[in-house]
Amino acid sequence: MSDRLYLDHAANTPVLPAAREAVLRGLDLTGNPSSPHASGRVAKGALEEARETIRAGLGWTGDVVFTSGATESIAIVLASAERDVLIVGGGEHDAVRRHAEGAVILPLGDDGRVPVHALEGRLGALGAKAPLVVVQSANNEIGVIQPVDDLIAVTRRAGGTFLADCTQTAAKVQLPDADFIALSAHKFGGPKGIGALLVRDFSRLRATGGQEQGYRGGTENLPAILGMAAALCAPHGWIERARDLRAHLDGAIEAAGGEVIAKSSARVPTIASYRMPGVASGAQIIQFDMAGIAVSAGSACSSGTMKPSLMMTSLVGDAAAGEVVRVS
Ligand code: PLP
Repeated sequence: MSDRLYLDHAANTPVLPAAREAVLRGLDLTGNPSSPHASGRVAKGALEEARETIRAGLGWTGDVVFTSGATESIAIVLASAERDVLIVGGGEHDAVRRHAEGAVILPLGDDGRVPVHALEGRLGALGAKAPLVVVQSANNEIGVIQPVDDLIAVTRRAGGTFLADCTQTAAKVQLPDADFIALSAHKFGGPKGIGALLVRDFSRLRATGGQEQGYRGGTENLPAILGMAAALCAPHGWIERARDLRAHLDGAIEAAGGEVIAKSSARVPTIASYRMPGVASGAQIIQFDMAGIAVSAGSACSSGTMKPSLMMTSLVGDAAAGEVVRVS
């Protein structure tokens, strides 16, 4: 496998050595963190230490609820946060769209961003209704950075609550000052199946009972939590190098007749989508795979399909969306 080129980090990153070691340490902690005996207290100590490490590592002053990943973190907020109206960005991941029936969808501008004035307009028309706004920090397909700080500011002015889906940026760039933040460890070198919901103020979220101060039931996955904390503490300075590599790739693909999607928008350096006119995404994926290169197409990371996502078709049109691959 070592001679293969893995360029699908937006779907999953390799587990960092420090995270692997921490998981193994966690596997040897026998006690359940909820048990009052000595073994339980040791496990509880490790759990709380990891929580503090994560808060400090992310620079987050609110609470941290451990979940199985961003999907569950988002589901908790959408099921239990106080709201009259749900407003979501037009480029949100399936983890949000799945719960967005009846929601106001904010169409993306030509640059792939949610227009701040569009949210402002929607909020202004709500009257006394309390909105919950959900927008991702950066898109998982085209890497476009959303104007989350400005969106949060207009939401706050309207008395609303904001969930930022930071799955693709957590541990890489500073978190926004949202009310809730969703993240997954496997996007930054931790294990799969573990993540967190960051909560600014528990009074905005209905408790449902169980562990995690009553906000997430089920025994905590301590080995994975320790792995997530270790992954977060590992150096992520390579992001600057990714910026150079991506610029190089953009240029090379354009020289070969390809198109960089959302090229002129601010994008995270770790994710980009490219269109090769006349070549179907599926054919590209197969050829890259045969050449030892792992890339992805459409919403494969969320659904296992190679169908273009709604976001991509609305941005570039149906036909062109079927000729795009993501490199991350
Ligand atoms: N949100 C975004 C922007 C994502 O990219 C993903 C996964 O790719 C998710 C949510 C869901 O993350 P997970 O599958 O780890 O729960």
